[in-house]
Amino acid sequence: MLGTLDKSASRLARGNLTVTALSDGYLDIPAAYFSNVTQTEQDAVSPSTRFGANTWLIETGTRKILVDAGSGEYLKERFPASGTLTWQAPEKTEERAAVTDIVITHMHADHIGGLSLNGSCLFPNAEIHVQAAEWDFWTDEALLTSVPEDKRPLVGLIQALAKPVGNQLRLHRGDTDLGDGITLLSAPGHTPGHQALHLSSGSKEAILLADVVVSDVLQFANPDVRYALDSDPDLAVKTRRALFDRLSADRIPFAATHLYTDRFGCLETRDNGFAFVEI
Ligand SMILES: [Zn+2]
Repeated sequence: MLGTLDKSASRLARGNLTVTALSDGYLDIPAAYFSNVTQTEQDAVSPSTRFGANTWLIETGTRKILVDAGSGEYLKERFPASGTLTWQAPEKTEERAAVTDIVITHMHADHIGGLSLNGSCLFPNAEIHVQAAEWDFWTDEALLTSVPEDKRPLVGLIQALAKPVGNQLRLHRGDTDLGDGITLLSAPGHTPGHQALHLSSGSKEAILLADVVVSDVLQFANPDVRYALDSDPDLAVKTRRALFDRLSADRIPFAATHLYTDRFGCLETRDNGFAFVEI
């Protein structure tokens, strides 16, 4: 594991590298968004289940690196319990200015809404790290008219949220070393350029999975369960299985955006699937 547990299990610390979970509230996602499930599994999330909305702050001593920015003010109508990070609040001006880097795991609005307000980036000094495949996919002007009518508001919002951060971008292609023991891990499927993070300090490691897993209730026990917002469900399953195998084989502590808990845990194999065990 990355290191000794701090007082709170939602923080891992070792040497100069500290990871702290920052919760952006909760999202209520309908059970119908998950498919390839048995009736018993479906009943476990029926009619909707409360999901976490975790982001993280990695501190290295010289850098403050945010992993995702939450949904800001942009999803409150749909998810009233979301957006509790309030990066847009005037009293957070100094805190925002101190952020040196922001890793965007992918460009769904619950991950990038907190980056800007009314068309202005809220983090003036941050380099914003996104996979090129992700940026190119969502900012393609033709996308808006090529998706089904019911997906247009989602795409339109993402395109509006992308604009203000365009000149602070660092686009990456595949696995990338960001220095200080932080590596971007290409983890496509949920979106075309979805990425996770690998953190290491000496022989200790940890992984931030982002949306490789969405439902802790369903997808640990059965990684083949599909999620309606996955852009390539087959690839999402493949990515999830590969990372779950690695996490369980090497007992790597990890956290994920939409787990109900913001704590780190390990994966253990259980029957044909896995179980999350908090550490
Ligand atoms: Zn998400």
